[in-house]
Amino acid sequence: MKYIGAHVSASGGVENATINAKQIGANAFALFTKNQRQWVSPPLSAQSIKLFKENCEKFNFLPEYILPHDSYLINLGHPEQEGLDKSRLAFHDEMSRCEQLGLKMLNFHPGSHLNKETPEACLNRIAESINWSLDRTQDVIAVIENTAGQGSNMGYQFEHLKYIIDKVEDKARVGVCIDTCHTYTAGYDLVNQYDDVFNRFNEVVGWHYLKAIHLNDSKKPLASKVDRHDNIGKGIIGNEFFSRMMKDSRFDNMPIILETPDDTLWSEEIKWLRSEAE
Ligand SMILES: [Zn+2]
Ligand SMILES: [Zn+2]
Repeated sequence: MKYIGAHVSASGGVENATINAKQIGANAFALFTKNQRQWVSPPLSAQSIKLFKENCEKFNFLPEYILPHDSYLINLGHPEQEGLDKSRLAFHDEMSRCEQLGLKMLNFHPGSHLNKETPEACLNRIAESINWSLDRTQDVIAVIENTAGQGSNMGYQFEHLKYIIDKVEDKARVGVCIDTCHTYTAGYDLVNQYDDVFNRFNEVVGWHYLKAIHLNDSKKPLASKVDRHDNIGKGIIGNEFFSRMMKDSRFDNMPIILETPDDTLWSEEIKWLRSEAE
């Protein structure tokens, strides 16, 4: 079965994300558990945690299909100690929030070398940061998202993901999220080489590490390395690919999350994707 939703707003409290997800007909969703543009946010209130859990039960959202996303400020591969320390502490706080909410995964972009050190050194730091965070938490899985490769962002090749995973000590607590827009603009031709791209993913990373999908069309062309999402079927990737993906059982039983720009289309997009999955 396909579990489809969107990255919904948690404004006013994380419990509101459940309501927003319910309203668009989702059976999966993503959220920020704190203000994504600030380093520090007040802790989750006991009331918010309680309501979040109650709503999840009421609306039938299972933790396996809820994918929190970390703050955009965090760079687990930061080349400088101060930025790295700040990022690790903030990431640890995010993991703790997930645990408080009873959630099992935290999705994040691997990190950037900021042109101050080699890509390899950056990947090593990212892996160290993951190990550092996993040591300090109980059971949340660190879910690495592939990127478009914009600027000095790492994670735009499947080999980067594999490199990081190889250095993570607890393999049961690391996974991958494939963002379709990022995959395409990173240079993997999902439209004309669907089988090749996913076979390659399997060979390099392995299906068992795939924990989630970000489902986005792209405003920018193949291999442009620019990250600009578009609504499903409105961009360069197009409906045919998304239809095919919905029929592909390898993407069953994991959160499939829309991060498409026009949120007024989410209900419609979810409805269409579900009809294609049947
Ligand atoms: Zn994404
Ligand atoms: Zn993106």
